Formats: sequence, C-alpha cells, structure tokens
Amino acid sequence: MGRTYTLVNQKGGVGKTTTVINLGAYLAYFGQRVLLIDLDPQANATSCLGVEKQTIRGGTYEALIGTSPAANHILHNPRLKISILPASPALAGAEVELVGEIAREKFLNNALQPLRDRYDYILIDCPPSLGLLTLNGIIAAHHGVIIPVQCEYLPLEGLSQLNLTLDRIRNAVFTDLVVRGVLLTMFDGRTNLSNDVVAEVRRHFGGLVFESVIPRTVRLAEAPSYGQPISVYAPNSNGAEAYASLAREVLIGDGVRLPSLDIETE
Ligand code: ATP
Ligand code: MG
Repeated sequence: MGRTYTLVNQKGGVGKTTTVINLGAYLAYFGQRVLLIDLDPQANATSCLGVEKQTIRGGTYEALIGTSPAANHILHNPRLKISILPASPALAGAEVELVGEIAREKFLNNALQPLRDRYDYILIDCPPSLGLLTLNGIIAAHHGVIIPVQCEYLPLEGLSQLNLTLDRIRNAVFTDLVVRGVLLTMFDGRTNLSNDVVAEVRRHFGGLVFESVIPRTVRLAEAPSYGQPISVYAPNSNGAEAYASLAREVLIGDGVRLPSLDIETE
C-alpha cells in the first residue's frame, strides 16, 4: 500500500502546486511509482506537467462524481515516470454539486481506493480554500497533510486557522489525520523577514518542520511555462537541489530504502 499525502494551505500562492510537481518528480526520480492528483479547478498541476487542456477527456471530477473510475483518466509521462489524474474543466462545478450529496467529503477517498496499491506515492494538490474539494483531499490523505508556508510574511495567524480546521476535521470525520510536515517555501536568505519566519515557524512547530527549505528562485517559477518539473528544466539549480533534498527527507522519514540517492545531471 502506497502513501498518500495532500498539500494543503488555504492561502493562495504558497507553493502547493510547485511542491506537488517537484517533490513528485524527485520521488519518481528516486524510483518511486508516483501519481499526482489535481484537485484544483485552476488545473495548475495539470498544466505544469505540460498536459494540454484540450486533450483532457476526464479527470478528477469524473472520478469524484463516480461517472467513471479514476484509472480511466490517468495520464502517464514516460520520460518523468510520473502519472497524473488531471483536473478536467468540469471540476469547477464540483464544489457546488457535491453539497447535496451524502458522505460527500469521502468521494475522493473512495475514488482513490483501487489505486492505492498501484503507486508508492500519491500526492494531492488542493485549491486555496478550505471548501469541499480540500476536505476531500484531506480525508484521502491517509498518511498526512503537508503544509507549505511561504517565508514572505508572518504566517502564524493563517496557520492557526488551518490548525483549527484540521482539529475540526479530526473531531468530525477523520480522527487519524496527521500533519506529515510543514514545508518552508520561497525562502530568501537576504531578507530579515525570511529568516524571522523560519525561526518563528520552527519555534512553533518544532520537529514537524522539514529540514529542507525551498528557496525563492526564478528557475522554479519558470519551469511550469515549459511544462517541466525543475528536475528536467534546471537540474543543477538551487531549487532542484532543495526539492531533491525534500524528496530524500520524505523517503528517509518513511523508511524507504534506496539503492543510491545521488542525483545525476542530464
Ligand atoms: P494556489 O493556491 O493558487 O494553487 P499554490 O499554493 O499552488 O497556489 P504555486 O502555484 O505553487 O502556489 O506558486 C505560486 C507562484 O509562485 C507560481 O507562479 C510559482 O511558479 C511560483 N513559485 C512557487 N514556488 C516558488 C519558489 N520557490 N521560487 C519562486 N517562485 C515560486
Ligand atoms: Mg496551486
């Protein structure tokens, strides 16, 4: 049975999608079978992997609603050895459509059930809200949520709101929910603010914070326009090294043994 993690933060633009793509790419690089789930109607993860919107016949929406199994819509990138369940355009209506359904918060969890032993890692990309789609993402995250935190403003207020929501979910539907880790993103060592945020978040969340810190780099921002993860677009960049380091940290934390963790350059 593989591990499922969901990237969640109700704040927009903190690096959820960038992390799904690049952590996913390095986990695949290190030999893991990886499936990404695009649960965001913005479909950024889908386009970051170079999937053309016009070619999508179905995806997360169809799997959620149950009109066809998720497996029918999974696309595989043989070069990256990575698979994605893309966000189909209809996903935009899902939040509203699901409201009247019974057990609506468990639809994604059920849809992913037949896939869980086919992949070592399933990473779910959520929209920037705490609505029904994100709730579905959190409940499907059997091994925990990963919370990216941008080192660009003091995020503790937002994080305590998120913590409160996670507590509510634990009490109401999913007692086993754990935080797999807090990830510091967009770190700029030249600013006092970035250093302050790192210190503050580490003080507050201690061992829950990943050692790996993702720097703010132009290369990470550029890669999506080429439909490539950083491991292909700029494998020697700081951003690539940071996401490779995060992947190693996740694998080691999960007790996955690897033949070699060295990164080869293209
Ligand atoms: P949303 O909530 O809208 O889905 P998100 O949390 O998924 O946003 P991303 O889309 O990953 O955030 O990142 C927001 C923007 O910042 C994107 O344009 C992305 O390319 C850029 N970005 C992400 N991480 C970095 C980084 N470490 N350095 C520079 N730019 C970054
Ligand atoms: Mg996103």
